[in-house]
Amino acid sequence: ERMMEIRRQNCNPMTMKITYYKKPLFIHQGYMQWLWDVDGRRYLDLFAGVATVSVGHCHPKVTAAIEQQLKRLWHTTNIYVYPPLHEYCEKLASYLPDPLKVIYLTNSGSEANDLAMLMARLHTGNYDILTLRGSYHGGSPQTMGLASNAAYKYPIANGLGCTNTMCPDVFRGPWGGRHCRDSPVQTIRECSCSQGHCMANEKYIGQLKETFATSVPNRIAAFFGEPIQGVGGAVQYPKNYLKEAYKLVRERGGLCIADEVQTGFGRTGSHFWGFQGHGVIPDIITMAKGIGNGFPLGAIVTTQEIAASFGKGVHFNTFGGNPVACAVASSVLDAIQEDGTQKNSLDVGTYLLTELAKLRDKYEIIGDVRGKGLQIGVEMVKDKVSREPLSQDAVNGIFEDIKDMGVLIGKGGICGQIFRIQPPMCITKEDADFFLAIFNKSLYNYMERR
Ligand code: PMP
Repeated sequence: ERMMEIRRQNCNPMTMKITYYKKPLFIHQGYMQWLWDVDGRRYLDLFAGVATVSVGHCHPKVTAAIEQQLKRLWHTTNIYVYPPLHEYCEKLASYLPDPLKVIYLTNSGSEANDLAMLMARLHTGNYDILTLRGSYHGGSPQTMGLASNAAYKYPIANGLGCTNTMCPDVFRGPWGGRHCRDSPVQTIRECSCSQGHCMANEKYIGQLKETFATSVPNRIAAFFGEPIQGVGGAVQYPKNYLKEAYKLVRERGGLCIADEVQTGFGRTGSHFWGFQGHGVIPDIITMAKGIGNGFPLGAIVTTQEIAASFGKGVHFNTFGGNPVACAVASSVLDAIQEDGTQKNSLDVGTYLLTELAKLRDKYEIIGDVRGKGLQIGVEMVKDKVSREPLSQDAVNGIFEDIKDMGVLIGKGGICGQIFRIQPPMCITKEDADFFLAIFNKSLYNYMERR
């Protein structure tokens, strides 16, 4: 292990993000919802390589599909056509509503969002892009410009000056100051009203209108929104927010883009795509992560009319949708069907949300439990009244404690105070119980120490 740490320090830039700073985790093997480190210690994986392993690590069906395709054909680029490409695109199209049937395959979510941005600008002739506070849409220079949170990007003007990014409420400049207490978490709280009349929606739609009035009167190319924010910490919008936002954007000539990189492929449980939970149909959908169960693949999907803005033959990428990626992605869709993955996501996710809410009521340091299906966030706070974020030291302490007891989870949120639970969607209720007991213990330990 020491040798591995020396190798890591020698070969990998230390500026690259790793989790578990105290002692990096050296993962050696995985199967379904389980990971093993180099010493043979087993961990329940509740973060799935950042919400990516959808049907399970080394899922037998996916492994068999890779093996079969590896013996046949690896690569041609898309200057030739190969059966796995069309087989896959047809299969994926069957999960998509009309008229969204034109598919471009990419290598990642960032590339998909870059492409969507370009397409929206070409199609509308406009330039401005609107994103939401707490959003994350990628790590390429352009998509970095879409993030509202300074922590997700380098301080270069708007991510190499490529995007004019605005955020409807607090975010006005390229990396303007945000205050944690202003975080969209408040949105969830205020909109948990059951009366159907949601003050939060009026407030946030009002802010969106104001942004249009002051910043983007008529030049909007696109609005990007995740159906439930991922990196932002399972942030959900008030009821009807996306519906009204789409209307406002379209009235001004812009396209609506749903970033389904985290929410797609059944993760939210009730629907295959996150946008379906909002009663909207986007103009462009971008996807990655769960599409390939960990194999590098992404996609954008749009209409014939919008795709026509690309003209003929300019767009090209060498690896996007190569034969192996297509065979993998096709088997992922089959596994989702055969394993009942979406329903499992709903069942186990709902169970987790219910049980976590009990822990929220028990512990002063849990401010909120939210999400849908297996896209869950737990907000850690100093106390329920102030809802100030729990200190990073305290958050990290609990996070490492949970790992030491055998469970891996994620972190997110504007202040890094949201625990994220986005596991491979094959986890069981017993796994959920295993985690809940460990989480309870780590919270108890923290409260005792405090
Ligand atoms: N969109 C969202 C919502 C994401 O969460 C991410 C990655 N965390 C991306 C886009 C970028 O995807 P990739 O890392 O595959 O480029």
